[in-house]
Amino acid sequence: MNIITEKEINSPKGNKIRLLKAENPTGKTGETILMIGVFHGDEPEGEYLIDNLIKDIGENPGLIGDNRLLIIPCLNPDGKLQNIRGNSNGIDLNRNFPTQNRRKCDQDGDYNCGEEPASEVETMFIIDIVKEYEPARILAFHSPYKVVNYDGPADKIAENMSKLNGYPVQVDIGYPTPGSFGTYAGKERNIPIITLELPGTGNVETMWTENRKALHYFISC
Ligand SMILES: [Zn+2]
Repeated sequence: MNIITEKEINSPKGNKIRLLKAENPTGKTGETILMIGVFHGDEPEGEYLIDNLIKDIGENPGLIGDNRLLIIPCLNPDGKLQNIRGNSNGIDLNRNFPTQNRRKCDQDGDYNCGEEPASEVETMFIIDIVKEYEPARILAFHSPYKVVNYDGPADKIAENMSKLNGYPVQVDIGYPTPGSFGTYAGKERNIPIITLELPGTGNVETMWTENRKALHYFISC
């Protein structure tokens, strides 16, 4: 199994944002699956789970079968380094997508969506990847709600993941999310998207143990 860097860009602060690709040389074309960690810089847990998942795939390439797995381990390295939700421009990347429900947002608050949709290079990176690779399903890591949230036609996937990780399925996160990636990809493009909300407190090793089977399922289902 070769896991290669398929693309990379520089963040506003010059940190690398990488898209990794894992696929088996089977000659068959399965589905393309996209997985994204650290949308929000103060939610670093997803990258730890992704690193472990990559190790599992390296040791057991059969986990992905004929599928092509695309992984962004850390979308927001600048925010991660500063331990802030947004990127280094203070923009919440999960509110910066060009969705129909986007509206003027509170530019001073935590949910700063940017003056223009897709104003941020991190957001454009994702938009370009979705257009180019047309993923069959997407998973984005967040925290701290410990739920399996979804948008688009992902109800069955969410239910099955919930059975494997023990986190409840939550259809509505409970507050409006204009400009979110779930709305962009799931609601408006009908791509099944899981927002896996990790607990946010406690041991990341425990989060990995809880989610390992659910993630194996997601990349092979
Ligand atoms: Zn988040």
